[in-house]
Amino acid sequence: MYVMEFRHSGVTRTSRVVRMSLGMFSGSKYRCPVQDSLKALGYTPVSPPPGRREVLGQVALRPLMDELDGRRGPGAPRRHRLDPVLENWTRHALRAYDSAFFRSDGDSGLSEVARPWTYRYPAGADDHRGATEYGITVWGRCLASADGTVRELRLPVHRSGAHNVPADGYVAVAALVTAEDRQSGPPDHVRVVRFPAAGTRPELLFAGTPEEAKDLHRTHGRHAVRALLDSAEYRPGSACGSCPFTAGCPALMRAPGLTGLSGKGRPRRTWSPTDGREYAACARRSRARSLRLPTLDAVERSPAAERGRAVHAYLAARHRADPPVPCSSDIPEDWVPAGFALEERELLIATAQLRRHAAVCPLHRVLSAEDVRVEPTVTMEDPAARVVVVTDPDLVYRDGGSWVWREVKSTSRRFTGTSNLMETYPQLALAVLMAGEAVWPGRSGNVRVEAEILRPHGASLVTLDPSSPAVRDRARKALAPLMAAWHADDSFEPQPGPECAACPVSQWCPDAAVRTGAERHEP
Ligand code: SF4
Ligand code: SF4
Repeated sequence: MYVMEFRHSGVTRTSRVVRMSLGMFSGSKYRCPVQDSLKALGYTPVSPPPGRREVLGQVALRPLMDELDGRRGPGAPRRHRLDPVLENWTRHALRAYDSAFFRSDGDSGLSEVARPWTYRYPAGADDHRGATEYGITVWGRCLASADGTVRELRLPVHRSGAHNVPADGYVAVAALVTAEDRQSGPPDHVRVVRFPAAGTRPELLFAGTPEEAKDLHRTHGRHAVRALLDSAEYRPGSACGSCPFTAGCPALMRAPGLTGLSGKGRPRRTWSPTDGREYAACARRSRARSLRLPTLDAVERSPAAERGRAVHAYLAARHRADPPVPCSSDIPEDWVPAGFALEERELLIATAQLRRHAAVCPLHRVLSAEDVRVEPTVTMEDPAARVVVVTDPDLVYRDGGSWVWREVKSTSRRFTGTSNLMETYPQLALAVLMAGEAVWPGRSGNVRVEAEILRPHGASLVTLDPSSPAVRDRARKALAPLMAAWHADDSFEPQPGPECAACPVSQWCPDAAVRTGAERHEP
């Protein structure tokens, strides 16, 4: 059986038809290759993970697709009920779609086809994956000219940008499916465009003949299909929250009781310290962030936030060096990593913080690059709570026989003591609870958590012992208020107030009390 390639148990193959979707080729770091592979190959879980459906929609672009489906006429699928933030976003996205694609004379020359483009082909007689047929579907707007000679695929995305460049295999597969669908005769010309719902211009990904689409597939697509179907790479992370295959997954760590919550009657969810921070500020804000709606640069890239990210990016790059080189206080003038822009005051503060880091750099204590993990994603499921917890420590390193979880916080504030660190920085409380549960490679020894606080005039290093019941108890108490209300919430109501002025998603919120120079997108 092909499943023997996986170490995964608790799955059974219920179909010999291989069903791939274009999204599986996106190359997103948030997708898990094994989950995609199992789904595509027709496996289903023997025991699906428990958890009821969410009350609110979880896919930000789904209502846009529903609205566009609805324009096709009365037989169109039923639309979802929207909460205000999703309604606001969807109306904005619809206006952006119309202004991008509809011509003033009302005739774009293209109209939507009856069914989304699909590419199917029969498997060979001795298919090594045991398949009888292969198929690839797309999730986008599929249009054709009246005579069928021109086809266009419009793929919705939240927004485009350098951080979101589509993989070559993704473009190749999209072009092939558009060219090879057989619900009508073959086209002469094929276009694939990406439509950023945030409102920027559509991007042309491919334009050419069906032959050129097949050439591109031979160059990039075939390899992408093989990589998808034959992958054995587990990538625990946010994908685990909606994964049907958790029960037999050897890569997902379990920590019963980690959150201290009961999941009875609750949906499965993913939680990170960022969720906790956002929810504490405003429930609706955390909802908009979890939908990954575009944020305001004026808030997200404020001078202080930009300084903090630049410091972290610089240290992460330094700590990835192989062999490891401890950081020195000799900071180069042009240290600011590409993609960051610091104002003069922030540059002075950040440079002083980096100089202070040298004295407490953990690389003084490691022997080889094998002993260092920079920003590793640590994922644990609390089955009793139906919550998957995901966090990215700044650094994990081995000091002799002990693994150390290091969180680095940079601040321009004056030193106020270290007595309430876990309350101030929930990542530390989470680190205390997760470090004791994690499976650490190599020889196991004591695990400790370190909090490195960088200020312009000094650096503090505080050690927390996860094996201490008192420390763990305090960590639980620090996290409980951040998790409990979020876990029980189904409506994510707004909490307008002064915080709205620093809300990165206020442009999607009809209840904002104050705005940050952002255009308000009215429903
Ligand atoms: S549980 Fe997580 S790591 Fe395991 S297959 Fe699912 S998504 Fe991948
Ligand atoms: S604008 Fe205010 S009420 Fe709306 S999501 Fe942001 S913080 Fe909450």
